[in-house]
Order: sequence, then C-alpha cells, then structure tokens
Amino acid sequence: MTPEIAKDEARKQLVANWSSLSRIFLSPEDDASKDILLKYMEQILFGLHDFLRENVGITEEVSLKTLSDQFMETRICEHPEKMLTEVITDLIEEIAPQAVNVASPYFVGHMTSAIPFFMVHLKTITAALNQNLVKLETSKIVSILEKQVLAKLHRLIFKRSKQFYKEHVQNQTTMLGSFIDDGTLANLTALWTARNTVLGPKAGFDGVESEGIDAAYKAYSLDRCVVLVSRLGHYSLRKTGGILGIGNKNIIEIETDQDFRMDINALEKAINDIEQDRRRTRILAIVGIAGTTETGTVDPLRKIGEICNNNGIHFHVDAAWGGPTLTSEKYRGILDGIELADSVTVDGHKQFYMPMSCGMVYFKDPCKLDSIAYHARYVNRYGSADLGRKSLVGSREAASIILDSALKIMGTKGYALLIDHGIETARAFAAEINRRMNFELITDPELNILTYRCCPANLCNGLQSASPHEKRSINKKLDNINTVIQRVQRESGKSFVSRTSIFVEKKYNEEIVTLRAVIMNPMTTVDILKEILDEQEDIYRRFFL
Ligand SMILES: *Cc1c(COP(=O)(O)O)cnc(C)c1O
Repeated sequence: MTPEIAKDEARKQLVANWSSLSRIFLSPEDDASKDILLKYMEQILFGLHDFLRENVGITEEVSLKTLSDQFMETRICEHPEKMLTEVITDLIEEIAPQAVNVASPYFVGHMTSAIPFFMVHLKTITAALNQNLVKLETSKIVSILEKQVLAKLHRLIFKRSKQFYKEHVQNQTTMLGSFIDDGTLANLTALWTARNTVLGPKAGFDGVESEGIDAAYKAYSLDRCVVLVSRLGHYSLRKTGGILGIGNKNIIEIETDQDFRMDINALEKAINDIEQDRRRTRILAIVGIAGTTETGTVDPLRKIGEICNNNGIHFHVDAAWGGPTLTSEKYRGILDGIELADSVTVDGHKQFYMPMSCGMVYFKDPCKLDSIAYHARYVNRYGSADLGRKSLVGSREAASIILDSALKIMGTKGYALLIDHGIETARAFAAEINRRMNFELITDPELNILTYRCCPANLCNGLQSASPHEKRSINKKLDNINTVIQRVQRESGKSFVSRTSIFVEKKYNEEIVTLRAVIMNPMTTVDILKEILDEQEDIYRRFFL
C-alpha cells in the first residue's frame, strides 16, 4: 500500500462514535500520529524563529481570489474528515506558507511583530489550565495573581504610594484595572466609566446605564455629550461614541501642531467654543494619545492633564502602543504627565510582546469601575470578589499569567532594551531617509514609528517653490508613486512597510500618502532598513522611469 492509499483507508474508517471520540479527546490517534505532533511541536517550542522563517509566508503572492476559491465549502462534515495529525500537517504545510510572517525583521509595517519564543510556552500552559477569570470559582489563585499584576502595572503608570498599593493590591472591593481582549475594548471600558460617572444616578434619575441616553440628557438638561481627541485618535474611539449612544460625530477632532501632537491652543479654543455653543454640551472626556497609531507621537499629556484636572473632566490616556515605554529609564520622560490620567489603555500584544491578544485598562481611582458593575444570580453576586463583576466581557483567558511571567523573565530593564532599540533604530532610519535624495521624512520618530515617502529629487526640488495648484498636482503624482511602491514591495514578498495618509499642515496643508514603518522587532537593523529603502528606490525606477 502506498502512503496515500493507506491514508485513504484510514480516513474511510473515521467515524464519530464513543470509542474514537474518547481516544481523540485524550491522546493522539496512534504512535505514528504522536511522532508527527512531536516533530512539529519540538520545532515550534524550541526553534520558534527558525520554524517561522522556514514555514510561514514562504510562497509567491497568490491572489485573494484564488485563495478564497479554495474555501467555498459551507457544510460541516458529519463524521470526522481528518485525523488530528492531518489537520496539524495541513496547518503547517498549507495554511502557514500563505500566512504572513509578521516575525520577519523585514516586516516593519504594523504593530504586530516577532514575540519572544517563551510566549508560546506561556500561552500553551495558560490554555492547558483553561482558567476562566469571570469568577473565582473557575480561577481561584489566578484571580489573585491577576490583581497583583494589575497593581504592578498601575504602579508603573501612576506611582501612587506604597501604602496605596498595600491597601488595594488584594482588596476585594476595589479594582486598579482590568484585563480585556484588546485596546479597542479597553478604550470603550474607560469611556463607559466616564459616561456613567458624568450621567450617573441622582435624585429622581437612576443613571444612564439604567435609563438610557435620552433620559440622561433630559435629567441633566443636556443636548449632547462629546469626547475630545486629536485628529490622530484611534478609530476605536469613534466606535465607542456609537456604542455609548453619544454618537460618533461627537468624538471631536482637535487639530495637531507641526509635530503631530494635540495643539493645546486648539484644545482650549474647542473647550471655549463648547461653553459658548447654544447646544448644552458636556465633555465626557479628553483623550491624550501616548503613541499615535499612525505617527507614534505623544500628546502633551501633562498640559492636557492639567486642563482636565482644573475643569473636572475625565482624562483618558490611550497608551495602547506607548505604555511600555514607561519601562525605559531613558525614554519614559516622553510620557511625562501620564500619572494625571483618570484612565489609561495599554495593549499587551503590542509592546509587551505578548501573543494575540491582550488589552488592559487602568484607573487612578480604584472605585471607578463600580460605575459599570453588573451582577448575576449564579456568578458575580453582590459582594463577591469575582473579577467579572466589573468587566465589559464575561468569560476570558488568564492573559495575566502570560504578562506576569514575561515581566519576571524580562524585568523592566529587559523590556527597556527592546523599547530603546526600537526608538534608536527608528531615529537612525530617519537619519538615513534624510540623507537620501529620493526620500522625504514626513514624521520624525518620537517613539519608534515614522512616516516618510519616496520623493524623487526631480519632483521634490520644485515642490518648495511651487504654487499651491502645482503643489497639489505634484503631491498627487507622489501619492501614486508611493501607493505603487508599497503595493509592489508587499507583493514581491520580502519586505513590508504600511501605507497611510497624513494631513501635513504647515508644509503642504493637505493630506498626502506616506509609507509607515513601525520598528519593534529586535532583529530589525539599520542595514535591513537600508535594504528596504534600496528596494523602494528600485521599484520607483522600474515603474516610473
Ligand atoms: C492599537 C491601538 C488601539 C487599538 O487596539 P486594538 O488592540 O487593536 O484593539 C487603540 N489606540 C491606539 C493608540 C493603538 O495604537
């Protein structure tokens, strides 16, 4: 029998019955299967980065159409269709080659990158334990451990007194923060508490959570509530506006200054305009961004914080990206003023290098989450210490195990090495872009993100002196050139930078297409970045000269 026929024979015998089910529930089908599983798992667990290099994203570009044509079947098989080992082999031999090798040091386009190999071990153990943090009855010590990790990060951000942490680290009635799926839900949680505080219960009114937004506006004599954020705010904030019922058009964009940070004068003017507006308006929150998604710039947190504190406005800091910069002695000053925040979002799957996905939200006031508390008869009873009582989500994994272990393995100094490498490599990359005739740096890397564009000397030299009309037409040409460069480079499969468009106020007064690089992979070197620029220049020559 050839191996293929043998496989077919084995497949014919696959039936869903108790004996086959109890076998597959507990162990691999047979010794041969076990050997295959061990072979792959050994590669993944002990040679992760080699494994990814050799197996992931290694094929030529295949069109999405061709791929989707292979995924048209919509019936679920009734009887088992494949053995476990076949499924695993398929994943590694069929799926992985067409997936994206985000761990490649040439993949510098997004906030998703290589992770330390031990993260996979920690994730595996977390999955094996399968604790559910919605309640103590399904997590016990892990809920307690989680409170400790939350306090550690809270302390990194807010630096409250030793006494404060002693009082709250294991306090069953207060919460310093909360783990949640991602940064989007962390932002939503923060603004949910802000809304419920501003429109909370009072005499004759049960609060917005109970009575809804219409009744709340009536009770508080308001026409609308707004949230202020710079024009570089993450789009999750607009979702939040929709979900919280204030409307996403009331997430108001504040202009940025020439360094792409929230313009404080524009903020003060907006607050003033809102006071003068004939519509009766409450500001639910002002959001400062610690590392914008597009440019990595950090808003003037201290100034925004002071304005909020003076006006009794909730100050939220979206540090989904930049939060872990606080581990770096050298660069934590960039986030100066973050401790003035009422709430802070941090993503674990970004610069804490955790596997997908882990968001967190922290509150200065350990009672803030009371404003979103929910109870049920079978879990999260009144007075229980279940973490699910004050959370947007129900069941969830113990991501805290992974973060806590990683912090122990790396220490803040270990993380700082990664952060410093990212920032310093990005700065060296910016210098290289400035050195090259055919490139223009658009946003300087304050942290480890920068934007730039290919701007061939013959087009760029005329740009400064051009009339507004000519400027626009040259920028249109450049938009097209950069769009093509980004696409061709991605499709040729070696390197990846992303593409966005940035409103460049002073220089052009218009939105232009830019290339965007995010430097977080410790294996990404300046030489690699130079190669990426060389390839981009090459593409320009091939397509446009
Ligand atoms: C990534 C990011 C978010 C959203 O986080 P997700 O985890 O993708 O939901 C929000 N704000 C900023 C600044 C981000 O960089």
